[in-house]
Amino acid sequence: MSKVLEVGEITDVVTEFGTELHAEIVRVFCPACSEEFIGTKRAAGGFVAGHAAFHDHENRMDVILSNMGGT
Ligand SMILES: [Zn+2]
Repeated sequence: MSKVLEVGEITDVVTEFGTELHAEIVRVFCPACSEEFIGTKRAAGGFVAGHAAFHDHENRMDVILSNMGGT
């Protein structure tokens, strides 16, 4: 996938897993770190879930560290 995708575009996307037909290109934003992602909804879901898991992990590490008397 080397073509630059435009938000709102409906396109067919070939990935290593298969071909997504009529996939809408969306833009999503992570409120925790302000990273943004442009891609298919499927990929955007992975971005959102990945960031949620990552930031949740970071928060948990902070709580564990502070409970141990660290920063
Ligand atoms: Zn994030």
